Formats: sequence, structure tokens, C-alpha cells
Amino acid sequence: MGQAQAPSGIVLDLSGLKTVHNISTDHVVVDAGTTWAALLTATLGRGLAPRVLTDYLGTSVGGTLSVGGIGGTTHRYGVQTDNVLSLDVVTGDGVLRTCSPTESPDLFNAVLAGFGRCGIIVRATIPLVAAPARARRIKVYYPTAAELRAQQRKLLRERRFDFLQGQILPSDTGWVHMLDFATFYTPPAEPDEVALLDGIGFDATRDKIEDLSYWEFATRLDETVTYLETTGEWRAPHPWPNLFLPDRTTDAFVDKIMHGLTHADLGASGLILTYPVPSDVFTTPLFRVPDAPTVFLVAALRFASTEAIAEQMVESNRRWYDIAVNLSGTSYPVGAIPFTEDDWRNHLGEAHQPLAEAAARYDPREVLNRRLKLTP
Ligand SMILES: Cc1cc2nc3c(=O)[nH]c(=O)nc-3n(C[C@H](O)[C@H](O)[C@H](O)COP(=O)(O)OP(=O)(O)OC[C@H]3O[C@@H](n4cnc5c(N)ncnc54)[C@H](O)[C@@H]3O)c2cc1C
Repeated sequence: MGQAQAPSGIVLDLSGLKTVHNISTDHVVVDAGTTWAALLTATLGRGLAPRVLTDYLGTSVGGTLSVGGIGGTTHRYGVQTDNVLSLDVVTGDGVLRTCSPTESPDLFNAVLAGFGRCGIIVRATIPLVAAPARARRIKVYYPTAAELRAQQRKLLRERRFDFLQGQILPSDTGWVHMLDFATFYTPPAEPDEVALLDGIGFDATRDKIEDLSYWEFATRLDETVTYLETTGEWRAPHPWPNLFLPDRTTDAFVDKIMHGLTHADLGASGLILTYPVPSDVFTTPLFRVPDAPTVFLVAALRFASTEAIAEQMVESNRRWYDIAVNLSGTSYPVGAIPFTEDDWRNHLGEAHQPLAEAAARYDPREVLNRRLKLTP
């Protein structure tokens, strides 16, 4: 939809910029083309890890810092762009600049979640924390989406877990609603399972507890990727809408989109990811979430087997977006929702003007900003 590629545009392959430069006790300096998997491999070697990882670690550091970077620890630490100490950026005028919250903050704030409009991130300094050795992962299934959300809200309030997500999945009997959460630990300490499972309706005959190394947990999607490669879905179009809803309208939104939704509307291996985040964890000006104390991510991971189906899914995404906006929602615009210039302006809201000014300052000849043109 124009975010990653543009007609007559140029693709820069940053995969050669993959050096992990300097790992100290609390931060790492890393080239932007490094994948999060490669970065995590390097930091785990020193017993450290970034605070927030995306679910899929094949994305690059520069790629997710230019959009946001959400994952199951976001409820505690925000998105990846909320966890950056400084950036080296090649701006549209061809100058290599360093920026941080105190050094050229206008550029820092225009680049984080800025979709590459002002500059290309070439290096980032990212805070690190002690990596846990293991993860106790628990999956609990509920008959309704409302029940899933009620449990998620309760867990969020109680801050009982380190990782919190959830999914609505197709099954032979309709939809199933899975709470997915984990607690991290390092032996000899052990999680208190009785306390963890208290009051969430855990049923040992139906639900699941896994004990994984932290690396196995962080790379838990690898198995799914291998499966999707065998079915061909990994290479097929996957038009995903990623939306944020205020907690107060999430139930209405989910009811509306689920009404009449069939498994085919998501594709063979499709699912809906949904989980709550308290919005005070978000500090990146360009990462736009609804104005509400708690917001829910609702992301449909759809897979299209033909171009015609992909087009139908994109149209449906746009309908979902319009419903979300009417319910005070926003888009996390990494997916496939057609956006006009006005949509970008509405999406950016008060962040539009500073971004447009930064684009005019750092990319005066519109080398980078042409496709999602912003004018102050
Ligand atoms: C399978 C899959 C799983 C995903 N899972 C998650 C997830 O769990 N959480 C989440 O938040 N997102 C997720 N995403 C979305 C992902 O964060 C974005 O698509 C992100 O842009 C991908 O990074 P990339 O390295 O592949 O970027 P690319 O596709 O290479 O780039 C996308 C765009 O980002 C900008 N960009 C990329 N690198 C730079 C840079 N160095 N400097 C400036 N701008 C740059 C450019 O505008 C570029 O066109 C997922 C995407 C996929 C395909």
C-alpha cells in the first residue's frame, strides 16, 4: 500500500549492514540491517536481551524501528521504538547524522515509526536487560471472544505475566479463543504455577502449559513459518489489517467484524491476533494509538491463495479500518489497508506537522518523502 515499495521507487537492500558492534551490560550498538534473530543470538551470548521483540524475528532492526515493533511484552515496555537510545541516520539530503532524545530530537522523533520519510536508519543503540533463561507458556481456550478479553483485562490489571497475547482461531466447530501468556524465569527460581493459573479457568484436559528455553520461546514462530513455506502461503499475498481500538469500543468492533466472518475470509492458516496494552507505555510520537487508558491490538493475519482473493481481503481491510475509525480506533499501518494522503494526515493527527517540517528540513528534495508525500 505504498509503505514498503512505491511505483518507480528504489529498493535499498540493507541486509549487508549486519554488524552487531558493541554489547555492553545495558545496551547494544547494532547495524540496521541486522535481523532481530541475529541480534538476539548475539546478546543472549552475553546473557542479555532487548526488552521488546516482535513475534517474527526475521524482520530487521531498521525495518521495525521505522514502523513501531509490537510484541507480547509491549504491555510492559511499549513498542520497540519506545526502547531506543540513539540512531545513526542518513537523511534525505545525504548527510549521516546521529540523533537521540537529547541530540536532534526532531529527527529522532521523525525517524522512529516514521516509515523512512526523513532518513534511513543505519545504526541503532538499543537498551538491553538481563535475559531470562526460560519461559513458562500457558494457553487457555475460552468459548467466546468476550471471555478471552475479560481474562486478558484481568491479567493486565494484575500484571501477573511477562508476556500477554491472544488469538481467535478457526476450528472444525467454529472459532476458538486462545489466551496466550508466559512468565519468564531463571532457575533455580521457579514460577508459582498455582498463583499464575488462579482464577483464569485453566482446564488441564483442554489447555496447555509448555516450558521452553527463552530462545525457543522467542523463535516460537519458526515452526509456523516452516509450515507456511510447505503450504506455499508464506510466499502468497498476506494482506493484514492491524488496528488499535480503545478498550471501551473493542467489544463492539470485534462483534462487527466477526459477524458473518468465515474461515475463508482469513485464508487457510489465517487467524486474528488480539491483546490489550495500557497506552501509557507508548511514548513514540509517530506511533499512533487511540486516546484511551487501554487499547486492544486487533490484527487479522490473512493469507490469500489468489490475487482476486487478495483484492477482496484488501477491500475488507478498508471496511474494517472505517469501522475502527468510527469507533475511535487507529491503524498500525504496516499492513494492507489502502490509505489516501488525507488518511495519512488524519492518522498522524498532531504528529503530522512536526513530521512534515522534519521531512522538509532533512529531505528538502523529496528523495525519500515522495511516495507518502507530506507537506507542512
Ligand atoms: C511475517 C511478518 C511478521 C510480522 N510480525 C510483526 C510483529 O510481530 N510485530 C510488529 O510490530 N510488526 C510485525 N510485522 C510488520 C513489520 O514490523 C514491518 O513490516 C517492518 O517494516 C518489517 O521490517 P523489514 O526489515 O522486513 O522491513 P522492509 O520490508 O525491508 O521495509 C519496510 C519499510 O520500512 C522502512 N524501512 C525499512 N528499513 C529501514 C531503515 N533502515 N531505515 C528507514 N526506514 C526503513 C522503509 O519505508 C521500508 O520501505 C511483521 C511482518 C511480517 C512480514
